[in-house]
Amino acid sequence: MKKRIVLLGPPASGKGTQADHISSAYAIPHVSTGALLRSESEKGTPLGREADMWTSKGQLVPDDLVVRIVSLWMAEHGQSFIFDGFPRTVRQAVYLDSALKALHSSLDLIVLLELPESEIRRRISDRLSCIKCGATFGATLHDLSAGDACPRCASPLVRRNDDNAEALDKRLEVFRNQTEPVIAYYEENFPKLLCRINAAHGSDEVFASLARNLVDA
Ligand code: AMP
Repeated sequence: MKKRIVLLGPPASGKGTQADHISSAYAIPHVSTGALLRSESEKGTPLGREADMWTSKGQLVPDDLVVRIVSLWMAEHGQSFIFDGFPRTVRQAVYLDSALKALHSSLDLIVLLELPESEIRRRISDRLSCIKCGATFGATLHDLSAGDACPRCASPLVRRNDDNAEALDKRLEVFRNQTEPVIAYYEENFPKLLCRINAAHGSDEVFASLARNLVDA
């Protein structure tokens, strides 16, 4: 069973949803750096306030800040994880490799969720997120509006401050310029670990493909 997993993909490719599924099915902790940053921001910590200046514009938070938050998480929780939205730059990927190497460990699986831009835009314009559990829902599909109770935990649903057309343009540009090189880095250094999944399918179908890759051959 794979236990050190990185989940990569553009905005709205379903990284959070799939990481949640894997986490509950196989008891592997789900770590979303975006959610960790939003939680710091909601608590009003200096780290959260600094992160907000970047996230609200759709830009990446500086590497040193993200690396700090990930190091703290690994020190507290150990070496079984599904990273959702990390690493997003080659520097972060190199940091993760060396942090694991220092622990005589390494990644088991790198998953890339692929989604065409038209579908990314459609999903983002319709997306509501829970402020507490982070679950996301298509407003149209689930007949929900901002302010409604989250179907999972009953906390309020909101539109994320970076789920707007302007921030999305920036996030897509950031994905192309900074995160696609991470995919190239993994293709070059860990070609056998990288698996590509079509994220345009329904979430159950995507999970079934993922689950097949999680179990050791
Ligand atoms: P997400 O919830 O994964 O869509 O992330 C939301 C926002 O948090 C991103 O647009 C970035 O501003 C920031 N963020 C999350 N993860 C990272 C990361 N690994 N490196 C830099 N910024 C990040």
